[in-house]
Amino acid sequence: MDIQPFQERVWLASPTMHGEEQSYVKEAFDTNWVSTAGKNIEQLEKAVCEQVGCHYAVALASGTAALHLAVKLAGIIPGDKVFCSDLTFAATVNPVIYEKGEPVFIDSERDTWNMNPLALKQAFERYPETKAVIVANLYGTPAKLKEIRTICDENHAVLIEDAAESLGAVYHKQQTGTFGTYNAISFNGNKIVTCSGGGMLLTNEDTAAEQVRKWSTQSREAAPWYQHKETGYNYRMSNIVAGIGRGQMLHLEEHVKRKREIYFRYKEGFAGLPITMNPYIEEEMQPNFWLSCMLIEKSAMCKQVRSDTEALYVNESGKSCPTQILETLAKYNAEGRPIWKPMHLQPTYHGNIFVTEKTEKKMAGSRENDCISNLDSDVGADLFARGLCLPSDIKMTREQQDKIIQIVWGCFEG
Ligand SMILES: *Cc1c(COP(=O)(O)O)cnc(C)c1O
Repeated sequence: MDIQPFQERVWLASPTMHGEEQSYVKEAFDTNWVSTAGKNIEQLEKAVCEQVGCHYAVALASGTAALHLAVKLAGIIPGDKVFCSDLTFAATVNPVIYEKGEPVFIDSERDTWNMNPLALKQAFERYPETKAVIVANLYGTPAKLKEIRTICDENHAVLIEDAAESLGAVYHKQQTGTFGTYNAISFNGNKIVTCSGGGMLLTNEDTAAEQVRKWSTQSREAAPWYQHKETGYNYRMSNIVAGIGRGQMLHLEEHVKRKREIYFRYKEGFAGLPITMNPYIEEEMQPNFWLSCMLIEKSAMCKQVRSDTEALYVNESGKSCPTQILETLAKYNAEGRPIWKPMHLQPTYHGNIFVTEKTEKKMAGSRENDCISNLDSDVGADLFARGLCLPSDIKMTREQQDKIIQIVWGCFEG
């Protein structure tokens, strides 16, 4: 290929600042409200409530902190099972471990890559005593949140929605981050809007919001001295950090619009290649398109093997694989990433239960067919093997994206 490497790195998703962020930070300095209280925090919480349509938002140090406190609100105690999305970032799941619960992983579905409601239903049949479900909206695409909510209600389980990647995404005309009883969003550096780092717990329950405010500021009781009835955390967001978020929220819609453009330009650019983009259900959802991802058709996959820390592939004309494409992008100074490695394949969760959708399909035929069938019934592992996240940075120019598209084409030609 006759393509020059990018002079400036093209990122997967880097922070995009606009200017207002700095003036709110300056305001915090000028007024000396530089700690964990102040106008930026109040205004950021208000802006998020207005954006998503929830009653209460509590600004915290991270999305992970929000998920941790959500798990505590759900009443998870040592030994409790919690049904969790399998194909997600580990931060969805780790808070269950903080409370000594037991994550049980629910496989993905093909049409959204998110938690498969049928598998969830089957998990409740096996473990009906389960008290909580944590569902993530992967890459900004909503899960089938209504179906999942109904299944939770029928089983008297609390739904926690991990909307860390999906701020601004809509499902059945309702913003994500509002379907759970407790919901988490993230302002981490790579998310669609950022505070540099931070998160929020969203809920409509006033008592829950109060509890989170208390827990996140060391569980101090109303007393003249430091009085504590329960364990506390130092999880509150700083007013400086909140200033960045306050400025960013003014640009959320614009970021979603730009991410959407990027997704559809890829889709168009890949027409003719054995590639599909990360799917969603058009009639029901408007993702925020945080990351554009691609999936290679099975028949167009060259041989690829992965150990726990390394990957190898065999070059084959007309075929490619995520390893080849990621290595090639890196060679041209562009950043992609494999699909998040499913939790049930992570060494730290080795031995945890993994529930896939049980079908009546028989695995008849040769050994070879058995292998294919096994991958069919482990959707997460299959998406991990054949998928990757493309450079999705808001600041990527059209020319840069055209070049990325050309590079991907080149991988299938070589
Ligand atoms: C980023 C992310 C989190 C964690 O948010 P932090 O603010 O980084 O702690 C949780 N879940 C998912 C799915 C994420 O992508």
